[in-house]
Amino acid sequence: MPQVYNWHLGRDMSYPYEGVYPERQFAFVFNINRCIACQSCTMACKSTWTFSKGQEHMWWANVETKPYGGYPMFWDMKALELLDKANPDGQVWSGEVDRDARRPYGQFDGQTVFEAAEKSLTPDSARVLGYLPTDEEWNSPNLYEDNPVGKRGVRYEFDKTGEQLPAHKTWFFYLARICNHCSYPACLVACPRKAIYKRPEDGIVLLDQKECRGYRKCVEACPYKKTMYRGNTRTSEKCIACYPRVEGTDPESNGQPMETRCMAACIGQIRMQGLVKMSKDGTWAEDRQNPIYYMVHVAKVALPLYPQFGTEPNGYYIPPRWVPRDYLRQMFGPGVDLAVERYANPDRELLAVLQLFRRSNRIIFKYEIEEGPKVYEGTLRGRPITLYNDTVIAFGKDGKEIFRTKVEEPIHVRPAKHANSI
Ligand code: SF4
Ligand code: SF4
Repeated sequence: MPQVYNWHLGRDMSYPYEGVYPERQFAFVFNINRCIACQSCTMACKSTWTFSKGQEHMWWANVETKPYGGYPMFWDMKALELLDKANPDGQVWSGEVDRDARRPYGQFDGQTVFEAAEKSLTPDSARVLGYLPTDEEWNSPNLYEDNPVGKRGVRYEFDKTGEQLPAHKTWFFYLARICNHCSYPACLVACPRKAIYKRPEDGIVLLDQKECRGYRKCVEACPYKKTMYRGNTRTSEKCIACYPRVEGTDPESNGQPMETRCMAACIGQIRMQGLVKMSKDGTWAEDRQNPIYYMVHVAKVALPLYPQFGTEPNGYYIPPRWVPRDYLRQMFGPGVDLAVERYANPDRELLAVLQLFRRSNRIIFKYEIEEGPKVYEGTLRGRPITLYNDTVIAFGKDGKEIFRTKVEEPIHVRPAKHANSI
């Protein structure tokens, strides 16, 4: 099998095809700390793309409560179990975190879903370690919503002593998910019809309905379970990253790249989507002032979801601060401690960049910061902190300013003539 470089894993990896990389890659950052599970994203997607007959159980965008929730049910536990069997010595990482940009999380020493398939899978034709969820598992997209973890092994026994950071004993969190438009898509390699392809201009992974014969090999292979089968057309379907918006060909976009429906609808302002520049070797080209590049490669607050699967997903998450670290490390890899530390104690630049979330539907290609006055000096969790009311300015693909916003939110006072009458 050809070798490709997977920078999430910090090493070469076996993959059935040669590495071919787009000019820019669709990528996104979700800040889990802010998600309120309002499901506006889920419904924005559903009402745009999957409202037809035969798509009743199809949720390209979904939000599940971790650790118990999942759509399809238990998708990640099942994928991790398979990977555990393929890695009798554990899904282990070695090396230093944060040493260089080609290896930001150290090195994954276990086998990925592709490498495990190469060594052990039957039938011989299978190219990816995976499983096909049952119909029942697709039935209830939001089962276990708001169910917290309590005392291990005892039902409904939650900690009664109050909670404190860094980790809570009783906890849950919301994980918002869409297709990760992976750099090494498992769905693509599994398709015997070659109906799935990755676009050279933006890395969006699409499934050609005309070519699909509904074998469901992609559904079986995708470790994130983000391709779905539609019974009445006997084809599979998946997230298309609202590509007319990303291209700027949607009538609402005025010719400029625009974020997807799920991003634009986000009430909690947890989502930012962008297009990152790619190098010829599959790593990200340096683009210091691109906010997605900054959060992933400079501030290192945003991490890939289950990097050990090996697909190099292009969805990145700012991990929730209150969740036990061993759980987070399994989900986001060894970069977790650094990411939580930086997010909990943000420096001046990070604080400004975090203000860029959801001020506009246009894709931000570059940001600049204008320094403002000092507005606060004090301590945060025992450490000195100084806040500045900086202005952060966002620019679009055409280099024109999209908006500017400040670190300190403006206070609006309701005029007396509109006094609250409730
Ligand atoms: S998340 Fe799944 S469906 Fe999406 S590109 Fe990756 S492997 Fe394919
Ligand atoms: S719209 Fe935003 S806040 Fe609401 S559930 Fe989706 S990701 Fe979370």
